[in-house]
Amino acid sequence: MAKIFCVANQKGGVGKTTTCVNLAAALALARQRVLLIDLDPQGNATMGSGIDKYGCAKTVYPLLVGHTDFASARVRSEEGGYDLLPANRELAGAEIDLVSLERREKRLRDLLAPHLEDYDVILIDCPPSLSLLTLNGLCCAHGVIIPMQCEYYALEGLSDLVNSIRKIHAQLNPQLQIIGLLRVMFDPRITLQQQVSSQLEEYFPDKLFDTIIPRNVRLAEAPSHGLPGVIFDGASKGARAYRDFARELIQRIKRLSR
Ligand code: ATP
Ligand code: MG
Repeated sequence: MAKIFCVANQKGGVGKTTTCVNLAAALALARQRVLLIDLDPQGNATMGSGIDKYGCAKTVYPLLVGHTDFASARVRSEEGGYDLLPANRELAGAEIDLVSLERREKRLRDLLAPHLEDYDVILIDCPPSLSLLTLNGLCCAHGVIIPMQCEYYALEGLSDLVNSIRKIHAQLNPQLQIIGLLRVMFDPRITLQQQVSSQLEEYFPDKLFDTIIPRNVRLAEAPSHGLPGVIFDGASKGARAYRDFARELIQRIKRLSR
């Protein structure tokens, strides 16, 4: 049965999508059956998976509001080796349309329920907000993976996110937990980044992933080629780090299942 993970951080541009796309491809390389859900109207995870976001007949938007079915919306990222529920800017309308629907925060959970046996891991790329879309992701997830840059303001935003996750855990989804914090775009030459990284090790010893994703230009170049970084340049430092991260996550999943 699939484990469902949201990659979330309400801060923008912190590496959520890069983490989703590369983790999905790295897990696929490790023979995991993966579904990636693009829950962001920006559609970056869709494009980064090599799928034209405006060429998709069906996307996650009509799926969420009940206008299409799962099989019609699902596409295959041949390059990445995983399945994808794509998104484009139509999805912004879901914020409004969902409000009047029944079980509005549980729509994604309900529609994924019949497909959990088809995958080992389901990853959800959340938008940079604590919106109804993100809430849908958090309501169906077993856990949250929080990518963060080691900067001063990163810690400030973290407490808002942790409080929201606590509330959702208490009121809507008792299985939800923080799986881990992932340090991304890390540059060891910057003293402040080293300091924040050490602080994280001190405050969150159990929640911090050992793997650190370095700042690596190959990861930033890959989306313009419609490829996950781990496929675009498998020998790059960034690709190696995401493959390590996939292995670390698989180990954590095994511990979760015990
Ligand atoms: P948003 O909040 O807008 O959805 P995001 O959190 O999904 O953003 P990304 O789109 O993954 O963030 O990354 C932001 C930018 O940083 C992108 O241009 C991406 O290519 C670049 N980037 C992400 N990770 C790395 C990395 N490890 N090294 C270099 N560049 C990176
Ligand atoms: Mg993104």
